[in-house]
Amino acid sequence: MDVYGLVGNPVGHSLSPAMHEAAYDALGVDARYVSFEPDRGDLAAAVAGARALGIEGINVTIPFKEEVLELDGIIPDDSAQQIGAANTLDLSGETVTAHNTDATGARRALIESGVTLQDATVTVVGAGGAGRAITVSLVRAGANVRVVNRTLDRAERLAEEAGERVSAYPLSDVPSLLGDSDVLVNATSVGMETESSPVPAEAVHGELTVFDAVYRPLQTRLLRDAQAAGAKTIDGARMLLYQGAAAFEIWTGHAAPVDEMERTLYDRL
Ligand code: NAP
Repeated sequence: MDVYGLVGNPVGHSLSPAMHEAAYDALGVDARYVSFEPDRGDLAAAVAGARALGIEGINVTIPFKEEVLELDGIIPDDSAQQIGAANTLDLSGETVTAHNTDATGARRALIESGVTLQDATVTVVGAGGAGRAITVSLVRAGANVRVVNRTLDRAERLAEEAGERVSAYPLSDVPSLLGDSDVLVNATSVGMETESSPVPAEAVHGELTVFDAVYRPLQTRLLRDAQAAGAKTIDGARMLLYQGAAAFEIWTGHAAPVDEMERTLYDRL
């Protein structure tokens, strides 16, 4: 039996174990997916321990996604390197490779809903971990990204690092930026378990595709405002689903059974 896992703190509410085990069941893969909650400061020991125990792969989540790239012997792929964070480690080889499947997941969520990213104009609100992953991933797919953040210098740093297709703006510029945007992404935590939105309802228009990375609740205030304006919407569980599918594929080499993973995920949200 192969063992995969999640390393984070806290991990108690994670949907990843159920989603991955649904995938193993669907394909008859003999594997289990277990959550681990090391203390802050114990990440290196946790990864070394996972390797020593023969665990094949781990997802890494808050607060370890950046720190994991600083560990000895971790080789990031290009995207994880550029983002400066990883959420998926392949422990099966001589070396440990690190990937950022949040980035892949966000991109696939948009593409599967019919968005053409090449030359699209995308406004991303948020320049934290999710904002960085989404911005880098969309630029790699050919989009032009305006990054908006409450703390402007964080957005400016991201724009500097992510290349000439990215520019930085303060939060107050969102209404004017949305006028000619094709896609709006919420990559802040605003709306998570609250009735708040990072964007004024009147700024959202029907020509937009609105993607909210927040998935608790599934229907955020932003997504409801977007539906009321006639915009196409994508909820945060799509990103969660496709990041999990990408990790499954890296680890097992099988195409992920996305329908079963999706059913398991949405049943629990
Ligand atoms: P993070 O690194 O802590 O970044 C938080 C972001 O939210 C920053 O840009 C921060 O702005 C902004 N923010 C927080 N409170 C704000 C407020 N009151 N007004 C305006 N902006 C505010 O967190 P993260 O890891 O990027 O996660 C962000 C969200 O994405 C969370 O809800 C998380 O659950 C979600 N997420 C979803 C997935 C998925 O698979 N669907 C994956 C990863 C993350 P400042 O820089 O100014 O503080």
